[in-house]
Amino acid sequence: MLPSPREQALSLLEALGVPPARLGAQGLAVHSPIDGALITHVTETSPAEASALIKQAHEAFLHWRKIPAPRRGEFVRLLGEELRLNKQTLGQLVTLEAGKILSEGLGEVQEMIDICDYAVGLSRQLFGLTIATERPDHRMMETWHPLGVCGVISAFNFPVAVWSWNAAIALVCGNAVVWKPSEKTPLTALATHAIAERAAKRFGGLPEGLLSLLIGGRELGALLVDDAHVPLVSATGSTAMGRQVGPKLAARFARAILELGGNNAAIIAPSADLDLALRGVAFAAIGTAGQRCTTLRRLIVHESIYEAFVSKLRRVYQSVAIGDPRQPDVLVGPLIDAPARAQMDKALSEARAMGAQVTGGTHVDAPHLKGCYVAPALVEMPRHDGPVLHETFAPILYVMRYQRFEDAITMQNSVGAGLSSSLFTLDMREAERFVSVEGSDCGIANINIGPSGAEIGGAFGGEKETGGGREAGSDSWKAYMRRATNTINYGTTLPLAQGVSFDITTD
Ligand code: NAD
Repeated sequence: MLPSPREQALSLLEALGVPPARLGAQGLAVHSPIDGALITHVTETSPAEASALIKQAHEAFLHWRKIPAPRRGEFVRLLGEELRLNKQTLGQLVTLEAGKILSEGLGEVQEMIDICDYAVGLSRQLFGLTIATERPDHRMMETWHPLGVCGVISAFNFPVAVWSWNAAIALVCGNAVVWKPSEKTPLTALATHAIAERAAKRFGGLPEGLLSLLIGGRELGALLVDDAHVPLVSATGSTAMGRQVGPKLAARFARAILELGGNNAAIIAPSADLDLALRGVAFAAIGTAGQRCTTLRRLIVHESIYEAFVSKLRRVYQSVAIGDPRQPDVLVGPLIDAPARAQMDKALSEARAMGAQVTGGTHVDAPHLKGCYVAPALVEMPRHDGPVLHETFAPILYVMRYQRFEDAITMQNSVGAGLSSSLFTLDMREAERFVSVEGSDCGIANINIGPSGAEIGGAFGGEKETGGGREAGSDSWKAYMRRATNTINYGTTLPLAQGVSFDITTD
């Protein structure tokens, strides 16, 4: 018999070292999606406190930027060590607060560890170029400098990993980080900060306020967006949020990393390895109860294999285990809350009104399941239209047929979002076409892998209404630093670029 989510969460918070003063009978109410019951209240940050914390973060930055980058990396190494020590406890808390199955909760913490490892190496590789100049006795080079306070706004569905993608990189780049987590998941944020504090102690202390947490609703996110001490905001959430945040940052010429909604597709070509495709599709569409930005939402199947493939998929949808995400055999946990389930119902009725055939999609009610549980929905659509064109943050997979490969690519690209995409094929020409300029228009384009489950070594993010931001690996670190181009004249004359002559008379 499992303990109640409340009981378990309170004991994990204690084990993780969250100060009891932050929890209590008043403030922001936190519920577990597992049973919908209250876990605790969390003290909210007032707007005045938030502004003071941002100012303090700026002061901390002025100090931190002068610490050599490899030494900054040492703090991130210790953070990674502390996360390793706390992987089980934090992973369980992620499951209790966000409702994802335990192996995904643990996977989220593993992702935090991975990005710390990556950032430690990066702390010795923040390099610029030396560039050939047209002028004799000159040298031209790039230097990369720390940027300032980096604001991080995060969504409920990756309550802690998103912070780490930003914070680990921002810290080695010499910045301070102020974090506004989702109002639905403040407990895992408090736990992450408690872990970071232990790493800071082992490091010998960080400048006061280098890492800060703003607990509360979107108004605190807006405050972070508006504060002139914050030159960069990395905001993860819905496209609706990005539409508000993006223009405000642009208006004050601050940088934005926008990681917004997705409406991701997979194409199943006639040559595909159908067993492999089935596993890839099932994980990407059903995993995390359809609550990943990279969740597979649209399946585009060649008509020649449609029945063979989709009949297998229907059986998967009818047999997948739904329930308390702490149970080892369960693959689908709850939706985050009742509005999420209402959104799912609405999208399904729109699809039915268009003539769709729906497998699953029902509410799952049982005396021991008090949260918002649903059977994932496989929705065979007469055409690519209506609710198919928008992200509904729930486990709905729309299925369409195609005849010509070019039409499948056009369908895949004909939505507003541009996050992730995939193609299952053994045909080399199709695979290459898909990742070519004429193929997928998304930030992520995979072959024989579903669209979800990225690893941290690559740059993560998407195009169009997904916002264009990139986080984590590759050269994403450059967004967290400012670049200066330096030209140095070590000669005795002053030749001007482009052969310009500007002779003045000197005595
Ligand atoms: P949401 O947009 O409701 O909230 C996300 C965060 O933004 C929260 O912290 C919220 O308080 C804050 N916020 C909302 N409006 C704001 C405003 N006007 N100013 C400042 N802050 C504001 O999203 P959610 O329901 O928590 O998460 C689900 C959404 O996030 C989905 O659309 C999903 O695709 C997207 N998501 C995207 C990525 C990605 O990397 N592209 C990753 C995870 C989730």
